[in-house]
Amino acid sequence: MFRVFSPSSWRRFLARAVLPELALIVLLPLGVACAGTPSRLAPMSTTQAVPNRPVPSTATTLPTMAPAPTVTTILSPTVKSSPISIVAAENFYGDVATQIGGDRVRVVSILKDPNVDPHEYESSVDDAKAIGSAQIVIKNGLGYDAFVDKLLSASPRPNRIVIEVSQLTGHTDGDNPHLWYDPSTMPKVAQKIAQTLSEIDPSDSAYFAGRLQRFDASEKAVDDQVAAMKTKYRGTKVLPTEPVFDYMAEAIGLDIIDKEGDFQRAVEEGNDPPASAVATFRQEITSHTIKVLIYNRQTITPITTQMQNLAKQNQVPIVAVSETEPDGITYQQWMLDQLKTLQQALSGQ
Ligand SMILES: [Zn+2]
Repeated sequence: MFRVFSPSSWRRFLARAVLPELALIVLLPLGVACAGTPSRLAPMSTTQAVPNRPVPSTATTLPTMAPAPTVTTILSPTVKSSPISIVAAENFYGDVATQIGGDRVRVVSILKDPNVDPHEYESSVDDAKAIGSAQIVIKNGLGYDAFVDKLLSASPRPNRIVIEVSQLTGHTDGDNPHLWYDPSTMPKVAQKIAQTLSEIDPSDSAYFAGRLQRFDASEKAVDDQVAAMKTKYRGTKVLPTEPVFDYMAEAIGLDIIDKEGDFQRAVEEGNDPPASAVATFRQEITSHTIKVLIYNRQTITPITTQMQNLAKQNQVPIVAVSETEPDGITYQQWMLDQLKTLQQALSGQ
């Protein structure tokens, strides 16, 4: 998910951030000043008395209902330094970085294809370049995105900040790495991103704080949905083919059968589960011990397909979840969509 700060988005930024404050002031024609490439966002050298930052806060105190000014104020368009470059190893962290950083950041996400198993990802030259020039790198940790560590050490950069999500959540090696499925994780990530951006760009700290507030408000819909489902379905037995969804299932209070057992670990690692584990798994479906079968659509193997078919034959509802955020929706919407699908399956609709 490349978020390029294009000339047109720069114009939109100016229109949004600058024009409202200067509605009654005569402006230089913006079209001329904005016609450059994104690299022109660097401080300009040809103007006089140009502030380095967006319009100083005193400008916002201009009475908006003041009489038409008789003085023509010559203002160059606000000069903004280049957006802060962020590389997220996974696109859900990149999405949250964009939600917090807005047009003050340029975000590149590496793992972003919801049709590919991220556990088998091999990094590219483009990834190395992006990480080499990033000011902030966000990674999951717990071995999930170990390729990032190699790229970081291959291109040392003294001021680069690395946000490792597993450190924020207090997990250690060996823990289930799918941390973004724990509804308590992303607010911590969002908060850390806002804090880090404010340290790099203190003049925009109120902007980041406002966007963090908006993120937290929309994340509440996910928390509310989890709480509602917990009230209704706590203790319901579900059977996942592998552990991607486990943190969310636990948050709902579901009873995860064979949690990270032989079957699930083998599927997660791309191996064939032992015959005894397959037999147990089949029995849990055919005996209707479980209410719902949950599978990871990014880790399909012949054995998981067999189990899906078995569930279908036995009228056991099946819920597909993905490991990577689908394109075009936010993290919050992704989680909500999956929770609602699960709710339908649990309620037998
Ligand atoms: Zn996984």
